[in-house]
Parts: sequence; C-alpha cells; structure tokens
Amino acid sequence: PTLEYDDQNIFAKILRGEIPCRKVFEDEWALAFDDINPQAPVHVLVIPKGAYVSWDDFSAKASDAEVAGFVRAVGHVARELGLVEPGYRLLANIGIDAHQEVPHLHVHIFGGKPLGPMLM
Ligand code: 5GP
Repeated sequence: PTLEYDDQNIFAKILRGEIPCRKVFEDEWALAFDDINPQAPVHVLVIPKGAYVSWDDFSAKASDAEVAGFVRAVGHVARELGLVEPGYRLLANIGIDAHQEVPHLHVHIFGGKPLGPMLM
C-alpha cells in the first residue's frame, strides 16, 4: 500500500472545486459535504484541507493546528446538524482491510435515526 498522496483522487478534486459537492461546512481546516451514497438520513463526510491519504498519514504528519482544526470541524458539523442530543456515529476507514475507497482522509458522520449496534 502506497502512502503517496494522489492529487487526482476524487476528494482532492472536490477540494479544488473541479467536482461539485453538497457543502455542509467549510473553514480554513476542513470541508464537510453530503456523501453521494448516503447510508443514513444524515451521512456527511468531513475532510481536512491538507493532502493526507488517511487517518494514519494525518495523525503522523499533520501539524497540531491541522489536527485541532480538523477535530473541531467534525464536532462543529455534528453540533450544527443537531446530532449531539440524539447521538451520532463517527467512522474512518483506513486502508485495504477497511475498504477505504478514497485516498484522502475522510471521517463519516452518520445520524438522523437510531443506528443500532455497530456489528464490525
Ligand atoms: P470510504 O469507503 O473510503 O470510507 O468512503 C468513501 C465514501 O465516499 C463513500 O461513502 C462514497 O459514497 C463517497 N463518495 C465517493 N465518491 C464521492 C463523490 O464523488 N462525492 C461524494 N459526495 N461522495 C463520494
């Protein structure tokens, strides 16, 4: 598995505005948008603005400011969407065994219904 960042990945194109998205939130550190194939009534992806392949890459290489900015953006989006009181789920797939499809770090936010236990 390569750790080389591919700037032609689909989320890099979304960040550059080359491909449209349904934007939920954007700041200096992060962009949040609706997943194109939602698995729950609320299914939002939050990505850092920096070029990081995965959570592993990000946690190893990103600056403290980038990490803080991204973590705060995820929390902010969940609050703005009214998910805190009913509850929500965060998920990040990393690498092959987890079926990570897009090689730019993304955290999934799921909510809007009782999600049930996580099976895997
Ligand atoms: P992964 O399996 O990598 O954790 O999740 C990738 C997610 O990106 C999937 O839920 C998929 O539906 C979503 N996705 C893939 N391509 C696009 C796209 O072009 N636009 C948006 N909004 N979501 C996408």
